[in-house]
Amino acid sequence: MSCEGRAQDAGTAPLPNRHCPLCGGPNGCAPATCGRFDVDCWCRDARFTPALLAQVAPAQRGQACVCAACAARGGPPGPGTPAA
Ligand SMILES: [Zn+2]
Repeated sequence: MSCEGRAQDAGTAPLPNRHCPLCGGPNGCAPATCGRFDVDCWCRDARFTPALLAQVAPAQRGQACVCAACAARGGPPGPGTPAA
């Protein structure tokens, strides 16, 4: 799968949001990186619970992928993790 040839149609191309809206880390979103949806992404097999998605700011919902780490633990890093 190649990342060459970014889609030109902004209406159907993924948004280039490569950071997790919860922790700010790289979300590893292949479509966002490639600029197209016809690429495989880890998120296709990942589970995003309603509780997890509820933590995403409304403005970010549907705009940026949550990263695998947040998806796995069900939210952003808790207290004890140095704040950015
Ligand atoms: Zn994250």
